[in-house]
Amino acid sequence: MTVRTWCRGGAGADVLIRGARAVDPLAGLDQVVDVLVRKGRIAEIADGIEAPARVGLVEAEGKLLLPGFVDLHTHLRTPGREDEEDLVTASAAAAAGGYVAVFGMANTEPAVDSAPVLEGLTREAAARSTVPTGFFAAMSKDLAGKQLTEMHELAEAGAVGFSDDGVPVRSAQLLRRALQYVKVTDRFVAVHAQDDSLMGAGVMHEGAVSAKLGLAGIPAIAESADVVRALEVARYEHGRLHLCHLSTTLALEHLARARDLGLPVTAEATPHHLTLTDECVTTLDPNLKMNPPLRPDADRRALVEALRSGLVDCVATDHAPHAEQEKEVPFEAATFGTTGLETAFAALYGALVASGQLALDVLVTRMSQAPARIAGLPVPSIAVGEQADLCLVDGAARWVVEAGGLHSKSTNSAWLGQSLQGRVTLTVAAGRVAFDDRA
Ligand SMILES: [Zn+2]
Ligand SMILES: [Zn+2]
Repeated sequence: MTVRTWCRGGAGADVLIRGARAVDPLAGLDQVVDVLVRKGRIAEIADGIEAPARVGLVEAEGKLLLPGFVDLHTHLRTPGREDEEDLVTASAAAAAGGYVAVFGMANTEPAVDSAPVLEGLTREAAARSTVPTGFFAAMSKDLAGKQLTEMHELAEAGAVGFSDDGVPVRSAQLLRRALQYVKVTDRFVAVHAQDDSLMGAGVMHEGAVSAKLGLAGIPAIAESADVVRALEVARYEHGRLHLCHLSTTLALEHLARARDLGLPVTAEATPHHLTLTDECVTTLDPNLKMNPPLRPDADRRALVEALRSGLVDCVATDHAPHAEQEKEVPFEAATFGTTGLETAFAALYGALVASGQLALDVLVTRMSQAPARIAGLPVPSIAVGEQADLCLVDGAARWVVEAGGLHSKSTNSAWLGQSLQGRVTLTVAAGRVAFDDRA
């Protein structure tokens, strides 16, 4: 059973991208070069390519040409909350962020917990998505944690994996049975690790800042205690487990031990946890309220080191669009989550790469090739003969994140009003131009 993504058809791109610095760790490429795309495939990589007739020319001196990004963790909000996002706007946001594939989580209304719901979505994506879009299926019926979904049928319908993200795993026994199933279906289970009894009514990280603000805290062990449980089940069953949005040093320590034991476990970290801290929350901006919450700088630095070393395999956005009425309320009352597709690369490039904390080729691997491998997709690569799945970035460009400039239907970005460095100017996804800032 192969993992699938769906998007609208259309003519393959014919474009010559001239003079960019092409960086592809997989192809061993890091040089200024011309890249010719014909009918959606990379036809030639060389110096001084002349543009053939009817081929668009993109002058790209000073820009970076990268394998396109893959997001394993997007909340597409459809079906059910199309006031917050839909496949058209999610695609537009993804393309503007340099993404060539995104995977939607299953906590929609209704949840993606049956083949008919999944098939409805795949038909919709085939008609409307401009960026290849795939889907998680729920692990349990209605995410209630009581009854497993028909995992075999959902895998056959193309689900990339199974997750009740949005809520934590309610039952270790259910996780155990799901991990048994994914061994047969060649999929994985993605877990939002959270112990509800430790989470309580917390609204931000429990620590010095929450004490100062007088806000109810979410302790680091609310994450790590549940990570331990999930890893224990994975160790027992040896089924593929993926840990969503890790945020604490404690959780990373448990993950490292699991890796040493050779467990089939992968993990992701979000741009916000990699670049922002609980100190930022002193503004009480509801867009900085997310779950897991922003953590102290020591955790953030541990997360960056884990991303560098590969302990954390990939970046995932946890793009979580919310309606204005859910965010334009006091911090305590606001819903959790930030959007992320349009800002992910810039947030990470400016904070980590331009500042010298992380090498560009590592960031490219963690945003593009590593998540593609986890999903089981063909790995984007800038090599002759490959389908064009790439993005062009102006690494020097500074831009201010403004509500009016976003493609997402929702504007609850943690970076709203902030200046970021690095801007995607062109995205070619599945061989077709999905975003061109000149358009
Ligand atoms: Zn989650
Ligand atoms: Zn999520």
